[in-house]
Amino acid sequence: MDFKLNTRRADTVFIIDLAGKITSGDALSVLRQTIRDEVAKGHTKILLNLKDVSYIDSSGLGELIMALGTVTQTICAKCGATVFKDDEGTWDPCPQCESRERKSWGQLKLANPGRQVMDLLEFTKLYSVFDVHGSEEEALTSFRGKA
Ligand SMILES: [Zn+2]
Repeated sequence: MDFKLNTRRADTVFIIDLAGKITSGDALSVLRQTIRDEVAKGHTKILLNLKDVSYIDSSGLGELIMALGTVTQTICAKCGATVFKDDEGTWDPCPQCESRERKSWGQLKLANPGRQVMDLLEFTKLYSVFDVHGSEEEALTSFRGKA
């Protein structure tokens, strides 16, 4: 296995340390399941530490985008149920309480991207989609700032 994943906590932030290659296959399903589990457990602040990631391919990048979508999904601000858009792209009222107040579930940030990962994010113009930080400390500070 060229891929490793470890999880730890820093205060209220859930940190996922990724190492090796994030390419199609096991790495992606493990990452996806981990993120889903943590969101289901109620963790709203998730940091992906890419320090030891040597390589991400396009499917790996797609998985990071999916992770971002999972963590930042839109929920009802009153009861927390997931809300959806209709076919025209306008938000439906909350399926549970009919409220039209919405908010984002949580935040996902990236820390310590290596050269290849940075190049990939810049090349695909996704750098601005993600909240990318040069160090773990910087990312943790930014989580605290928005708390
Ligand atoms: Zn609601």
